[in-house]
Amino acid sequence: MTTATVDSHVVDRLRGIVGEDGVLTDKASLFNRARVPAPFPVHRWDEYLPDVVVLPRTAQQVSAVVKLANEYRIPVVPRAGGTGLADGAVPLRGGILVDLKRMDQIHEIDLVNNTVTVGPGINLETLNRSLKQHGVMYPDDPASYAVALVGGRIGTSGLSLLGARYGHPRDLVISFEIVLPTGEIIQVGDGGGRKVRKSSTGYHLKQLFMGHQGTLGIVTEATLELVPRAEAEFAAFFLFDDFDKAYRTFAKIGKSGIATLGGVMLFDPEKVDYLRRDDEAYIVQPKWVKSVCAAALYGTRPEVEAASKMLMELGRSLGGRYIGDEIAPWDWAARHDRYANPLHGRDANGQVLPMSWHCEDAAVPYSEVPAVLRKWHEITARYMEKYELFDDWGCFAYSNGAHKPWGDLLLEIDLGLWEEKLDEEGWQAFVSLKREIAQTVLDHGGSITACHGSTRTGDAELVPIEMGASWEVMKLLKRTLDPNNIMNPGKQCLDEAYQGGV
Ligand SMILES: Cc1cc2nc3c(=O)[nH]c(=O)nc-3n(C[C@H](O)[C@H](O)[C@H](O)COP(=O)(O)OP(=O)(O)OC[C@H]3O[C@@H](n4cnc5c(N)ncnc54)[C@H](O)[C@@H]3O)c2cc1C
Repeated sequence: MTTATVDSHVVDRLRGIVGEDGVLTDKASLFNRARVPAPFPVHRWDEYLPDVVVLPRTAQQVSAVVKLANEYRIPVVPRAGGTGLADGAVPLRGGILVDLKRMDQIHEIDLVNNTVTVGPGINLETLNRSLKQHGVMYPDDPASYAVALVGGRIGTSGLSLLGARYGHPRDLVISFEIVLPTGEIIQVGDGGGRKVRKSSTGYHLKQLFMGHQGTLGIVTEATLELVPRAEAEFAAFFLFDDFDKAYRTFAKIGKSGIATLGGVMLFDPEKVDYLRRDDEAYIVQPKWVKSVCAAALYGTRPEVEAASKMLMELGRSLGGRYIGDEIAPWDWAARHDRYANPLHGRDANGQVLPMSWHCEDAAVPYSEVPAVLRKWHEITARYMEKYELFDDWGCFAYSNGAHKPWGDLLLEIDLGLWEEKLDEEGWQAFVSLKREIAQTVLDHGGSITACHGSTRTGDAELVPIEMGASWEVMKLLKRTLDPNNIMNPGKQCLDEAYQGGV
């Protein structure tokens, strides 16, 4: 196990690499980088502190830090925006936290080949603000659009809400430079060319280094896809008096073949109840509304105009009531704010309690969605009855496959958690609740995470089960690339790869 302590000699050597202002050891800097917005065992906060934070500016500095860490067997954890919801950027063994925010430059905008090359520390909103004047955009659009950084999007291989039209980070990142766990700097992509989108040369290593949650290295530069800025956007929300009609409408829209479809979205009855009850930002719907199905179109004006007529017909075909022209665009725009939850939940008597947000995400085959939703709410109700710590905030579903908005869905359940009240028993109850939710997905042929990652307790223990026989290959790759287990150790059960010792 990598557990070496970081002494003043190591801190001095780090200062020699990244400069005096690139090394932080004060308490506030360490505590601020010990957690992410997901629920956290606050009663054990100091177990998650890094020993030191470094803020490099170049790939060479990152490489030198990683080589030093190997020399002393010190854990290294990369951190981008720190918005990941699976604890990927949370240090489990202390060590050196590499904060990449200073590597936020745009190196090249290539309007001939439609690419942009950036540092991993730039956030998506800032990047698109700079691209706007050129009539192009980088269409990765998570709900965390304003705060997630390119390095974190690669680290998690997350989901874009416009993925049905433009793809997700795994499709939109063309190539990148990565510092391997041993400190070597390599370039991965499709073949060798930094701007090539399809090649048959060699192994396709790019996908191996997407979504590894900092366990296989640190991305230091990325070349991304540019698409023409959409000339027109059209969003439609349809209200239903019954979940089943909304669920079937989701499939009708997803399978329609509309090429400009950015994504389809579903709110289950518990989500509508929760929004009606506690989300002041939401437009309150009448009592008869039990479920919502929404979709958005992006493209040239003639394309979107024609497709919007089809979308309206599909949305209404099973009795959906259109939310109205005045409300729809604003409701869709709120996709980036909807998770700025009210930071309170309720107990069984309706009493308001201060609560933080937990989002459990999964990839679930379309046919299994009703059964999984029913079981998730039953599991949650059981824990709510026993512990006055949890609240059910309902479920959203999104189209999951890039360019294929059918077949499987990103399904998420949002839970309120009274973090302040957590003691060890409460925390263990939360972990066990998460594990039951994740296990349900495996029982229904799904994957325990569609976008956030399987790096949290509760999910992490199920990774070997979900991976099946390929778990052996995953461990072999980890051990080969990271012989000293320095990169983000303790995550995804990967310590198992070193059972005979490092
Ligand atoms: C309000 C809210 C809404 C969200 N909505 C979405 C959504 O719609 N879709 C979605 O996919 N996610 C969503 N998320 C989760 C989160 O924003 C994403 O997981 C995002 O990709 C994380 O980016 P980050 O920059 O914050 O990365 P971090 O949280 O800092 O890091 C994420 C992981 O990547 C690793 N990492 C970071 N930088 C690097 C690097 N340079 N090289 C290698 N590994 C690295 C870290 O070690 C960690 O394991 C949401 C989160 C919040 C708080």
